[in-house]
Amino acid sequence: MKPVILQVALDAPLDALFDYACQEQPAPPVGALVVVPFGRREVTGLVVGHLDESRLAPEKIKSILGCHVELGVLSEHWLALCAFAAEYYHRPLGEVALPALPKQLRGQKVGPLQKALRKLDPAPVKAKRRKAGAVASAETEPAAMASLRLFGQATSGGGQPDIPPPLNDEQAHAVAQITGQAGFAPTLLFGVTGSGKTEVYLHAATEILARSSSAQVLMLVPEINLTPQLLSHVQARFPDYCVATMHSGLAEGERLLNWLAAHTGRARIIVGTRLAVLASLPGLAMIIVDEEHDASYKQQEGLRYSARDLAVWRAHQLQIPIVMGSATPSLESWQHAESGRYRKLSLSARAVQEAVLPQVLLVDLERDKPHQGLSNTLLAALKARLDKGEQSLLFLNRRGYAPVLNCESCGWVSSCKRCTAFMVLHKPEQRLRCHHCSLELRIPRSCPTCGNVDLQPMGRGTQRVEEGLQEIFPEARILRIDADSTRRKGSAQAAFDSVHSGQVDILVGTQMVAKGHDFKNLTLVGVLNPDTALFSHDYRASERLFAQLMQVSGRAGRARPKEGGNAAQVLVQTRYPQHPLYATLAAHDYPGFASVTLAERAQAGLPPFVHQALLRAEARTLEAAIGFLETASQEAEDRPLSVVMNDPIPMAISRVADVERAQMLLESPSRPALQSFLRVWVQRLRQGKARARWSLEVDPMDI
Ligand code: ADP
Ligand code: ZN
Ligand code: ZN
Repeated sequence: MKPVILQVALDAPLDALFDYACQEQPAPPVGALVVVPFGRREVTGLVVGHLDESRLAPEKIKSILGCHVELGVLSEHWLALCAFAAEYYHRPLGEVALPALPKQLRGQKVGPLQKALRKLDPAPVKAKRRKAGAVASAETEPAAMASLRLFGQATSGGGQPDIPPPLNDEQAHAVAQITGQAGFAPTLLFGVTGSGKTEVYLHAATEILARSSSAQVLMLVPEINLTPQLLSHVQARFPDYCVATMHSGLAEGERLLNWLAAHTGRARIIVGTRLAVLASLPGLAMIIVDEEHDASYKQQEGLRYSARDLAVWRAHQLQIPIVMGSATPSLESWQHAESGRYRKLSLSARAVQEAVLPQVLLVDLERDKPHQGLSNTLLAALKARLDKGEQSLLFLNRRGYAPVLNCESCGWVSSCKRCTAFMVLHKPEQRLRCHHCSLELRIPRSCPTCGNVDLQPMGRGTQRVEEGLQEIFPEARILRIDADSTRRKGSAQAAFDSVHSGQVDILVGTQMVAKGHDFKNLTLVGVLNPDTALFSHDYRASERLFAQLMQVSGRAGRARPKEGGNAAQVLVQTRYPQHPLYATLAAHDYPGFASVTLAERAQAGLPPFVHQALLRAEARTLEAAIGFLETASQEAEDRPLSVVMNDPIPMAISRVADVERAQMLLESPSRPALQSFLRVWVQRLRQGKARARWSLEVDPMDI
């Protein structure tokens, strides 16, 4: 009998599908995972098509070695999602689809998979009966559920079930709107911080899950440090459903189990970070994207996808509702809401009774000279919180002790020898560290150039603020939370727990503390040194700054005020108190900020009014990197008029780890024009003899 030819996608940088023969019948269907010989290795591939005839000579075609039959197939919808992402981001299909699967599935050994499937389904007989039509319920599968709900978790959320508060009118309206419309209905849930967006998600999910026993809800969250909180919340709310979780902090075994729980339909709710958008979800019925503006939805290497954008595509493809929530939506989403493409639902007040948005005050640093980086106004406010047993948060987006070490006598500074950047002084660790290439050095005792022993830290990071505070308030319990203080697994969670349980008076932190956390006893937020972002070369810097300051401000005053306690306050220390961004911030006026900024963007021809792509090149010398981009632009001379190509320029930090980096920006008012040009161009670049490593990013965020 003639063998069937399978077209197989492999995780290889070649933009091609590979032909393999299958001697047995029936051949693995489209969507099956197969093991094939590739060069000298055996690798896992994805069957994407069947052919009667290969274009290769028969003797050149190798046969597949096996098939992961236990797994079933990946759905047509999932394949279409991967195909879309591959096309839109201009990457080979295999480089999209295979990395989206857990590593253990991509391994050749079937052992872990079988073990995981058994764990998932300890009673196959019952499972079969369920497939025969009975409605799945908690009673029929207690063993599997119990083991599943513990996946990948430091603490189990399975404590007391959570009793939902009655929704307020705006929340109830939002839930009714979200669940009331069939088909694709993208919703922007614009709710001020503390307005109870989570409750809206959970109620909408309840409704959707109740409609069908196979329905699944995907909840995307920005970052790992937010996941445990929400996850235990979700589990407590839905004790009868199996909840799976997906994020990069899971061990491989846990990742496989959770992925399988989703893929088999067993998990009804999936809470995950951006990578979860590529999960196989046969019953997907609703998607929620919490903090939709968050930069962490954008993958910054390899396939540089936007999880939010792919989520919208998935919802459209499946004709299901998608809810994107934020207090400070991305300007892209806000523009879609303004133009009517998205429906906007607003939650305008804090959900907890009598909790109100904090008063935002600007502290003029020219008048109120800071001591240890802290103005008198801020010190007095801190003191008032300490006196009443309330918590404060100081936000500074710079970790380490000082951003640079300096010799005042000869002008030496602690530059990284491998990067165009300074090495940051880390005092507790007694190290100079480069935050770009991770190079570490002992702190020099004397100046390497002139021998001066009096080296001075310049500027201020979280460690230095912590030190200064402890000097000023020796009695206060101060806790610093940043990437350095939370390196060990589980330490971030422990740190946040100690804030929640009242063991901390003053919290000092980077953006890690700005998001999501519902600190009930916190009445003061101090913002240190936000000004640098006002004058950044990156046009998105002000949008990010505004969102960050709104987020961190939102940590204050989330509970009902205490009798005789302090009112919730945010103090922003600035040298530019007149800056319009701060005026809209003080007024809690996101719509005002958005309309001004969108008008500027329209005027300047910036996103969301134009579409962009960025070609990056890396080489040993800057000339080589720029040279590559120049050649690439010559390859594009036949491009349509509507696609504008800018000159190649070095990246803002041009050298990292001894690699020189340059970039070239492409813009077009027409997305289809840009996309069809990129398709041709990328093919040419792939075929060219590039003397640089290059990558293309569609819809770049940092330029
Ligand atoms: P957001 O995500 O919008 O910032 P959260 O979802 O964290 O806000 O909710 C803020 C607080 O309000 C939480 O403590 C939550 O339990 C509470 N909350 C939400 N909805 C209600 C409601 N309808 N009645 C009372 N409290 C509520
Ligand atoms: Zn010196
Ligand atoms: Zn470096």
